[in-house]
Amino acid sequence: MPEVDVQSQEIHHQDQHSEVFNPPAHISERAWVKSYNEYKNNYDASMDEQFYAGIAREFHWEKPFTQILDYNFSRKKGRVFVEWFKDGTTNVAYNCLDRNLNANRGDKIAFFYEGNEPTETNSITYKQLHEQVVDFSSVLRNMGVRRGHCVAIYMPMVVEIVVAMLACARIGAIHSVVFGGFSAESLANRILDSQARVLITTDGVFRGPKPVELKKCCDDACRIVNQQLTAGYNGIEKMVVYQRLGAEHLKLKEWVDGRDIWWHDAIKQIDRTIAPPAVEWMNAEDPLFMLYTSGSTGKPKGLVHTTGGYMVTAATTFKYVFDYHDQDIYFCTADCGWITGHTYLCYGPLLNGATSVLFEGIPTYPDESRCWRMIDRYNVTQFYTAPTAIRALMRFGDDKVTQTSTRNTLRILGSVGEPINPEAWMWYHRVVGNSNCAIVDTYWQTETGGIMITSQPGAVPTKPGSASVPFYGVVPAVMRKKSDQSEDLVLDNTDEQFKQDEFYEESQVEAEGYLVIKRPWPGLARTIYGDHGRYEETYFSMFDGYYATGDGCRRDKDGYYWLTGRIDDVLNVSGHRIGTAEVESALVGHKSIAEAAVVPMPHEIKGQGIYAYVTTKEGIVGDEALRAQLKSTVRVALGPIATPDVIHFTPSLPKTRSGKIMRRILRKIAEGLDSVSQLGDVSTLADPSVVDMLLKNK
Ligand code: ATP
Ligand code: MG
Repeated sequence: MPEVDVQSQEIHHQDQHSEVFNPPAHISERAWVKSYNEYKNNYDASMDEQFYAGIAREFHWEKPFTQILDYNFSRKKGRVFVEWFKDGTTNVAYNCLDRNLNANRGDKIAFFYEGNEPTETNSITYKQLHEQVVDFSSVLRNMGVRRGHCVAIYMPMVVEIVVAMLACARIGAIHSVVFGGFSAESLANRILDSQARVLITTDGVFRGPKPVELKKCCDDACRIVNQQLTAGYNGIEKMVVYQRLGAEHLKLKEWVDGRDIWWHDAIKQIDRTIAPPAVEWMNAEDPLFMLYTSGSTGKPKGLVHTTGGYMVTAATTFKYVFDYHDQDIYFCTADCGWITGHTYLCYGPLLNGATSVLFEGIPTYPDESRCWRMIDRYNVTQFYTAPTAIRALMRFGDDKVTQTSTRNTLRILGSVGEPINPEAWMWYHRVVGNSNCAIVDTYWQTETGGIMITSQPGAVPTKPGSASVPFYGVVPAVMRKKSDQSEDLVLDNTDEQFKQDEFYEESQVEAEGYLVIKRPWPGLARTIYGDHGRYEETYFSMFDGYYATGDGCRRDKDGYYWLTGRIDDVLNVSGHRIGTAEVESALVGHKSIAEAAVVPMPHEIKGQGIYAYVTTKEGIVGDEALRAQLKSTVRVALGPIATPDVIHFTPSLPKTRSGKIMRRILRKIAEGLDSVSQLGDVSTLADPSVVDMLLKNK
């Protein structure tokens, strides 16, 4: 269904115009997977659960598993659950560290660290990291942290955040990392939800030129927590403070004796005459960590990931998607406050014995060439970032990239977090990658633990804007409504009948609808912390027997998946389904436009109209002439039916702290809501003043 004729109005889809890029030969030659056929054979083999059992056995199991997989995805049949390798015991931190020491990687560098200032550099070997983790596990143990307890972590991107996470994992404590940019109130809510008694933080950090007082935020959060204590929960009893800034920068305003302790003092106080705590052998289905989603669509959910399955997914996806080899230097810009930082900065790389770059700063400080210079400095071979960063850096022009670095060592460029529009994809490919790298557009979620849909650099040809094909063990399906006879889809989940409606799984290769997953892969989150009912309701009630991603998609004739937008944002114009991502990429294709976000608006005749928020490039004014040009650009690219009804120029878009456009706020403004109080949970917004600005210049 690449083209639909609607009363002589045509909808074109992106892939009609876009090129296909074959994997560069120099990458295929040395890749783990060298051709599409090889990928396909592996994929077919991964349909058997023995595939992941074989990979799991490459890791250390204290007690080997005999059971591989047991699950139920259907609420009609009972409680939803997933269990991988259930009767085995292992430890993820052991596999990240001790296993590498045993494999003679002790002197290999685990992380090159670069701080906010380019001059603050350091590195840490696997042996040193192991020592620090063992020490910090003693600290936690001395504070009474035991197997199954939850520990909150609120830190910037310093090596110690990884040390803290792994120390928890080593003694079987569940870590809950909260992004260091969140407010005291958001931190407090997450502490209350997890009932953590220990909080690990830093005095502060510089983010670009700006000092941020993390400890003060923790103090405020503790005060909020203390007002809401419940029976058996006394709030934060111990706060460990890593000294990042020191006294010359920040005077700590508050220090609670008996509760607060400096990280370095806690290390000094370890009694070296007694042995450090032993590795805690965890059951495969014991929790490893909990983590909240970005909150793009609503109140964040505390997803729980378990030990064995998560470990296998993190390790396998990292190895194949980034085609990681022993001499490579991998650089992921994600913060450990998000799932990408968990799986592709901490666990995935360490489980593969990789060397990574850990970066505390921001890509625009001291200037917009920071990342490109770093790629040259460390000889980076794989670079992984988000479309929001790519679009932001693209705005400053090619010279910032080409005049400051060669990027000659790069092989693979990754993207994650949102659909990457073809315009940004091409720039990433041509300018950053010197037209000589493979791009992997990786689709996945906090819930999925690891990458779900992606190309593999040496094997799968890429189409700009498509995440490509499923990873091993992942069985996606596209759901359509039965009653819907027309070629195009009418999907509306605000319909009260929605849940009773019968859907069917499209069996044709070409399909469009809701993206669901048919069976469990090892890394799927097992529950929402403390609320299994919400887990079942959110992911398994929409289509019985399937995991619902909440995203819309289109599958083309080659079986490639194109993510079209969040289900809530799918446009339904006069009964025709149009992906928000497609309209956005047409808008961003215009030379004056930096960024665009498209949402539905109520429309008397069409049911829904198209409301586009648009940010212009530096120095360009959004006027009537540009408005007309933009409408015509979309009309030419996608057909008259996709022409936006409203073009709203704005200097910036509301984004989550992870950098994603928060479309649910834009949708409410497009629906006519005009006060901040009507917009729902905005606590995950990076800059709340953007909302006022949007409301003002409506
Ligand atoms: P919440 O679930 O609280 O609304 P969120 O969905 O933004 O927040 P994450 O788990 O961080 O939380 O993000 C996962 C979502 O990000 C996916 O469901 C999808 O909408 C989007 N996404 C991630 N990677 C890609 C990609 N490569 N292409 C398209 N969309 C992507
Ligand atoms: Mg989500």
